[in-house]
Amino acid sequence: RAKNEGRGSYRFFEASMKAELNARRALEEDLRSALGAGEFAVHYQPIVNLKTMTVVSFEALIRWNHPERGEVVPAEFVPVAEETGLIVAIGEWVLRQACVDAASWPGPTRVSVNLSAVQFRTGQFAQTVFAALSASGLAPNRLELEITETVLLQDSEATLAILHQLRSFGIRTCMDDFGTGYSSLSYLRSFPFDKIKIDRSFVSEVNDREDCRAIVTSITDLGRSLNMVTTAEGVETRAQFDTINEIGCAEIQGFYFGHPVPAAEVEEAFTRIERLLSQAA
Ligand code: C2E
Ligand code: MG
Ligand code: MG
Ligand code: MG
Repeated sequence: RAKNEGRGSYRFFEASMKAELNARRALEEDLRSALGAGEFAVHYQPIVNLKTMTVVSFEALIRWNHPERGEVVPAEFVPVAEETGLIVAIGEWVLRQACVDAASWPGPTRVSVNLSAVQFRTGQFAQTVFAALSASGLAPNRLELEITETVLLQDSEATLAILHQLRSFGIRTCMDDFGTGYSSLSYLRSFPFDKIKIDRSFVSEVNDREDCRAIVTSITDLGRSLNMVTTAEGVETRAQFDTINEIGCAEIQGFYFGHPVPAAEVEEAFTRIERLLSQAA
């Protein structure tokens, strides 16, 4: 009997693996045609500087409106796009779109674009960035590039050379999701980032856990001594906002100020938040 049960669960396992593989193949296939079919959009989430009480930038976040499935979240399709190399074309599209959109935003407002390690390996990543800037007319100092440690993990000599080249042009660089990687600290030593983004996992529990508060405080202090701006990701409540402010972290991003919105709604979000901030001041 035990034997039969074992065989049954093996068959079940096999079937569910097959289903998973098929779903993954379907996603991959749909992803291949998505760019050409115009199924992607870029949404923008505001980032507020607490020292100046202004909206300093918007983070560009890709959205995929799948014809049958509706919105598919980046966590599901970005890894597939990376594995298949499709992220090179998709990432370039996001970059160009973000630069065009940001060129029409008020004053010095910046745009932050997320990058994948794969994009750095094409050998012409810097040229791609310069082309996006010149096509849009966006000043280099209004573009921020967000990278996670996976970007620095591979081929780090070549990657660092590209980052230095971009930085010498006035483009700003951010270390994203700081604190979640294996050796976040050593990356701060290898490259002079302009900004550190404290991962949401620490920020969301800043009022509930002493250790999270200690970590957020330490990263903020670290940023200050390294001359890097720190941004707290994922601030959702007034209580979190107050604590982050009290800790002295310079920038805040999260649902408390606003969810990511389509390009057409950026100006409205900007005006709404600036009004809110001037009332609070
Ligand atoms: P990320 O770069 O760390 O972006 C922040 C994520 O946190 C976004 O999720 C954003 O919607 C979400 N978020 C912001 N504030 C809050 C909050 O207060 N509460 C909660 N619960 N979440 C908040 P999203 O848009 O789903 O993107 C997830 C990840 O996908 C991004 O994390 C980034 O790593 C990746 N991604 C998004 N767009 C792109 C892209 O164009 N290129 C690449 N390579 N990766 C991208
Ligand atoms: Mg990011
Ligand atoms: Mg992040
Ligand atoms: Mg994150």
